[in-house]
Amino acid sequence: MNALARRIARMIEMDGPISLGTFMTLALHDRETGFYATRESIGAQGAFVTAPEISQVFGELIGSWCIACWRDQGSPARPLLVELGPGRGTLMADMLRAFRGAPDFLDGLEVVLVEASARLESVQRERFADAPASFRWVQRWDEIESDRLLFVIANEFFDALPVRQFVMTERGWCERVVISGGDALKFALSPQPVPLPRHPARGDAQAGAVYEICPAATSLAEDISRRVAAHGGAALIIDYAHDAPGYGDTVQAVRKHARDDVLAAPGEADLSAHVDFAALAHVIRRAGARAYGPVTQAGFLRNLGIEMRSEQLVRANPAHADEIRTGVARLTGADAMGDLFKVMAIAPPDAPSPPGFC
Ligand code: SAH
Repeated sequence: MNALARRIARMIEMDGPISLGTFMTLALHDRETGFYATRESIGAQGAFVTAPEISQVFGELIGSWCIACWRDQGSPARPLLVELGPGRGTLMADMLRAFRGAPDFLDGLEVVLVEASARLESVQRERFADAPASFRWVQRWDEIESDRLLFVIANEFFDALPVRQFVMTERGWCERVVISGGDALKFALSPQPVPLPRHPARGDAQAGAVYEICPAATSLAEDISRRVAAHGGAALIIDYAHDAPGYGDTVQAVRKHARDDVLAAPGEADLSAHVDFAALAHVIRRAGARAYGPVTQAGFLRNLGIEMRSEQLVRANPAHADEIRTGVARLTGADAMGDLFKVMAIAPPDAPSPPGFC
């Protein structure tokens, strides 16, 4: 066991089993040895590579998407742009490049970066020291003022939020918990069945079926939707999608680009779960906003004109033609990220459809 696993084991021995969600939070965010607090998580040297790290076209198209939504809503003054979990800041840097072509949008733009990791925040601060807009940082979404028109971008953020799992047994749905097994952390089931917070189609679940929920994701999506419905703006969520909403164990650990055991080395592996877009659509509508998608990342980027934009880039940088085209193929290929990743937008009920969802 590594040092964080030993600390978690001691905590369990004193206080009792913890939920999978609590384990994920400790493994990702523990201040001393959590994954995001200490590791080079993103990029070729890190555990995983994200879309903005593959091609600058990704962030540029999302920047243009924001401008188009803003114009469609009458170009309101002082827009607030929020990015959730900006990582190394690459997506925002590429969006800013797109904003340079729209000085009226850039004029008065305020950017808020929501970042839990002090280490990544300092990487971002350095990157945006001379940015052409005002930047500030918060650690939590609910620190952002709630009376503003806002645009929210989240790429591979929702998949980092902690999930809880329930397993169907003879006793009913029991929660999957983490216990200390002496020399290793282990999974177990709560002895008592628990009422599920949201009821799936009950009755047809076989013994062993796993039901996964992400309360942090649904409450965040609901709050964003409430604000967007009341004050305008839009949100874009891009992430790995659950195939069969709610059902199945989608939690995975990735260490140095390879799959790892979820409990083996907390803090050393990235932990994530697929996003249940059906559950998000439900709370978005409940909050009075409109949900668009999910559409595949490939479909979304093609609708926004990725082919045209990348060929422009090839003409301007012929020496990098292969690299640019390979990047686009990784973002849109059915065997790469194109189908696995899905995109969902949130918009006010009376606003035109955001681009990319036709
Ligand atoms: N969007 C970036 C990085 C994705 S990695 C990209 O596409 O490259 C996830 C990011 O979310 C990291 O910056 C991580 O530190 C941050 N993060 C994860 N959970 C968070 C939470 N609960 N609150 C705030 N930031 C979080």
